[in-house]
Amino acid sequence: VEKNEPMICVLAGGVGAARFLRGLVREVDPASVTAVVNTGDDTILHGLRISPDLDTVTYTLADAIDPVRQWGLRDESWNMLEALRRYEGRRPQGSSAASTWFGLGDRDLATHLYRTARLAEGALLSDITTEIAQAWGVGISIVPMTNDRVETMVDVLDDGDVRRITFQEYFVRHRHAVPIRGVDFVGATEAVPACLEVLASAETIVIAPSNPIVSIGPIRALDGVDRVLRDRRDHVVAVSPIIAGGTVKGPADRMMAELGLEASVTGVARLYAEICGTLIIDERDAHLRDDVERAGLRCIVTDTMMDDVGVAARLARTAIDATS
Ligand code: GDP
Repeated sequence: VEKNEPMICVLAGGVGAARFLRGLVREVDPASVTAVVNTGDDTILHGLRISPDLDTVTYTLADAIDPVRQWGLRDESWNMLEALRRYEGRRPQGSSAASTWFGLGDRDLATHLYRTARLAEGALLSDITTEIAQAWGVGISIVPMTNDRVETMVDVLDDGDVRRITFQEYFVRHRHAVPIRGVDFVGATEAVPACLEVLASAETIVIAPSNPIVSIGPIRALDGVDRVLRDRRDHVVAVSPIIAGGTVKGPADRMMAELGLEASVTGVARLYAEICGTLIIDERDAHLRDDVERAGLRCIVTDTMMDDVGVAARLARTAIDATS
């Protein structure tokens, strides 16, 4: 990094953040960028540690993500998953062996094997994440929010009863088609955040357009994170993941509504008002600018739909300019 290249930190979930980062690295030296990535979605399946948001960010920046699915690798094959089905019908009641509800491509599997083997050797998730990112030729620093285990649990309504399931069970197994009553980040208060230094020193902190509840929420739940963000509020800029009252993808809008929040840029503004000085909203929400400002944030209106990497790059430039 050149001496005067300002450092940029991006708080990240999966797809929305990855798309933003792909634009950002067009605008600035990738070496000046650190992505602090949610690991509350991490899960263990088949004994393997799976970190979906870390992998989405890595694969996207490596230009290896499947462009249609938006998760996993392109040109993937699924032989392992097919072969597992043989055992699925034989597993005893109560066993979760050979579960096939979670998509694991053959080539993707290599990443989970590597991560799991390194963890078993005692390596830190942050070091392993760097090794994986470098193996994919990714130029930014990708940092898991903590090296400790934090597990996002979702309380869902099931036949009138509230039942607690893991985030991946909610998101993948139930295709987020069940109403939620609450979320809990188990382990977050004891976990040591791996991001306080970068948050304290970055010139710009971007809250990526990620699910505010289950992607940004777990990072904020770590001890000290909200405190640093509050202190540095003028350096913090968020991009709304909600456009015209809905999401580009995923259940953020429904989750917000089910938790009693307004599923709109105004709802996002209220969630972030204490920790963030500026909210960037989409042109389709231009009429809500005053509401955002009433919630206490500066508001910038621009094109935020990052289907095109050029839009993502311009959005990244807007975010940087908002904080300098
Ligand atoms: P995950 O990939 O499902 O883990 O989800 P993320 O935490 O990245 O969040 C998904 C959120 O990103 C959804 O609320 C989407 O609306 C938002 N998102 C995805 N792509 C874009 C985009 O191009 N622009 C904006 N503004 N939001 C986006």
